Amino acid sequence: MGIVIVDSDRCKACGYCVKFCPKGVLGAKGVTNRLGYRYVEPVEPDKCIACAICATMCPEGAIEVYKED
Ligand code: SF4
Ligand code: SF4
Repeated sequence: MGIVIVDSDRCKACGYCVKFCPKGVLGAKGVTNRLGYRYVEPVEPDKCIACAICATMCPEGAIEVYKED
């Protein structure tokens, strides 16, 4: 199982992480950050498998992924 953390203030809502996450972990709830973007957050955090695809895809470096023992 993985732990995914999104820095909401760095997210520019491009949607790449949402599109490429194989488990549907990430999504936007429509809340805007200080830059005015509807940032992404883990909406199904328990499904994360720590593959780190989201972090690799994010052009803003806004995502960190940790593997849980
Ligand atoms: S690490 Fe993988 S499973 Fe977890 S949120 Fe990112 S893309 Fe989805
Ligand atoms: S890839 Fe990065 S910038 Fe794009 S929506 Fe996801 S967290 Fe936000």
